[in-house]
Amino acid sequence: MRVLGIETSCDETGVAVYDTEQGLLSQALFSQIDMHAVYGGVVPELASRDHVRRLLPLLRQVLSDAGIGARELGGVAYTAGPGLAGALLVGAGVARALAYGWGVPALPVHHMEGHLLAPLLEDDAPDFPFVALLVSGGHSLLLEARALGEYVPLGESVDDAAGEAFDKAAKMMGLGYPGGPAISRLAEQGQAGRFRFPRPMTDRPGLDMSFSGLKTFTLNTIHDLGGADALDDQDRADVALAFQEAVVDTLVIKCRRAMQATGAKRLVVAGGVSANAMLRERLAQAMGKLGVKVYYPGLAYCTDNGAMIAYAGALRLAAGERQKGLGVSVRARWPLAELARVASH
Ligand code: ATP
Ligand code: MG
Ligand code: FE
Repeated sequence: MRVLGIETSCDETGVAVYDTEQGLLSQALFSQIDMHAVYGGVVPELASRDHVRRLLPLLRQVLSDAGIGARELGGVAYTAGPGLAGALLVGAGVARALAYGWGVPALPVHHMEGHLLAPLLEDDAPDFPFVALLVSGGHSLLLEARALGEYVPLGESVDDAAGEAFDKAAKMMGLGYPGGPAISRLAEQGQAGRFRFPRPMTDRPGLDMSFSGLKTFTLNTIHDLGGADALDDQDRADVALAFQEAVVDTLVIKCRRAMQATGAKRLVVAGGVSANAMLRERLAQAMGKLGVKVYYPGLAYCTDNGAMIAYAGALRLAAGERQKGLGVSVRARWPLAELARVASH
């Protein structure tokens, strides 16, 4: 079965075709980052309008790259939430209309399930069950994935998401949006040991996380150096390194606890922050000691993309799931734990 996937939950328009026999046939992505960068973050109304502009050209491109016609598609999967309501509605409306026009089923997909399953697109894919750390711009979640659709929460951020903290810290240092890649690049020039940031919520048991304190700590550190304008390149690099080490260490500590608590031997790490090189390095060390194997998406599939939505949709469509009715509805908020185990998995 060939499934078209459409992702429009935030500031990336992603479209892809996944074939349950042949794997990913094609994918295309348009990132609106340059458009939002001047505002220092995503402007929801601009995001929605740009999805309208990009979606159909990307669709034509993926069909042409896959070398197939629309009639060869067996279903259309789209991100129905969580995300920006207006942005989601663009993808949902287009997906529902296309599926109706082509006479194939439509299927709403949970954006975080897309992130969670992205590592399964790789050659060395993990089997269920596994523990997952989802770290993105809007979420920091630890969960136990027992089967397709059965996700048991273990812990989450009580305030900012890890990616959001990267973005906000970067903004304070006058770096561009998105902050994660900018901070991680700068941190390579940083001198270790000059600043010591806290590892929030690691001094007590539990798997919840908190990242907003690191934001305040960053602000105070910059203030003590005379303000953002007074920073030289070395200051910025040193702050970036100390900040990144704090986020990474905190995530590693929480992953170690989650693996010990569950006894699981497979850890999946996905979402934008899973692209972070220091996180991958330190997790490899810590998980190696526990005999835990760590799985990541390919670098292109850590942040938002259509491939993960096509893939998640294809698994569910192949299991017989269908959207009922012709309505177009999205959920800006949608807890992952509300999903139910997919029958045949
Ligand atoms: P959500 O998936 O929770 O709805 P989102 O879709 O905006 O949020 P993603 O696209 O998964 O999030 O990831 C974007 C986030 O990942 C941004 O916050 C960005 O700063 C962060 N990020 C990207 N690359 C890196 C990196 N190398 N290191 C750290 N953070 C990174
Ligand atoms: Mg994005
Ligand atoms: Fe995302």
